[in-house]
Amino acid sequence: MPYKTRTKPVELQQLSSLDTRMTLSSKDKQHLINLTKGYEGEVQFDSLTEKLTWDCFILNDLLLKVNNTLFQIDSLLISSRKIHLFEVKNFEEDYNYEADKFIKLPQYEITNPLHQLSRSESLLRQLLLKDKINLPIDASLVFINPEFTLYQAPLDKPMILPTQIKNYLNKLNSTPSHLNEKHKWIADKLISLHIEDSPYKQLPSYTYGDVRKGITCLACKSFSTAVEGRKLVCKECEHEEIVEMAVVRAVEEFKLLFPEHKITTRSIQEWCQVVKYQKRIRKILDDNYTKKGTNRWAYYE
Ligand SMILES: [Zn+2]
Repeated sequence: MPYKTRTKPVELQQLSSLDTRMTLSSKDKQHLINLTKGYEGEVQFDSLTEKLTWDCFILNDLLLKVNNTLFQIDSLLISSRKIHLFEVKNFEEDYNYEADKFIKLPQYEITNPLHQLSRSESLLRQLLLKDKINLPIDASLVFINPEFTLYQAPLDKPMILPTQIKNYLNKLNSTPSHLNEKHKWIADKLISLHIEDSPYKQLPSYTYGDVRKGITCLACKSFSTAVEGRKLVCKECEHEEIVEMAVVRAVEEFKLLFPEHKITTRSIQEWCQVVKYQKRIRKILDDNYTKKGTNRWAYYE
């Protein structure tokens, strides 16, 4: 069990929601694809570290700040002798490594992920030293996707290729490690420093008027949904969902996209479109959120 679990990044949630409710530019669409792919790779790596029987704290996804510089860590394992830092890349296709450069074949140079790795390692070291923590840091770049090939992969760089991951983790499993209170303190300290919502998001600008209203189908994301008794039914794929759950899901999406808007019976009825009676919306909000204010100034949190 990870000591800190990973949640879907807010930016990815927002962009996915916008993707169903408006037309994204090809640049935003590509960004969504990249975020999704990156997240899927990280989740896949989590599923492997979760199986470790090693005595370690697993911290997934940390956004930290030291000397006003933000840095992100995909995965961190704290053992009694070392801190293992992993940067996970879900690259597929063929790459070539030449003269400290990563070239996506045939000839597209990408930012060398080893530079990003050593930056994170150095910033983490600075952060830990502030609290006089001097456990050695072992930083590695993990290529998680089995479809990834790196020609001329150097032997002296901290890279774990898809075919090496299993062995690498097995080796960790057989390394002695005995955690104590000090290690727990380090884990708790890092979690307390974690920044929940990244200030650097690449979202298109949008207003309430720009996005399509309605409750999308949970299964196929279609807007062809209708309320039939207690259920929200999709006309496209026939998926059924309890109306209350669908409305709560819609409210959460509304909060995600418009955090500054007030949740009221009226705003949510307009947002959902498909629920005919205000009374029904009010009941759902009453049952799932906290009411603030009274009468016509009432809103929910
Ligand atoms: Zn559907």
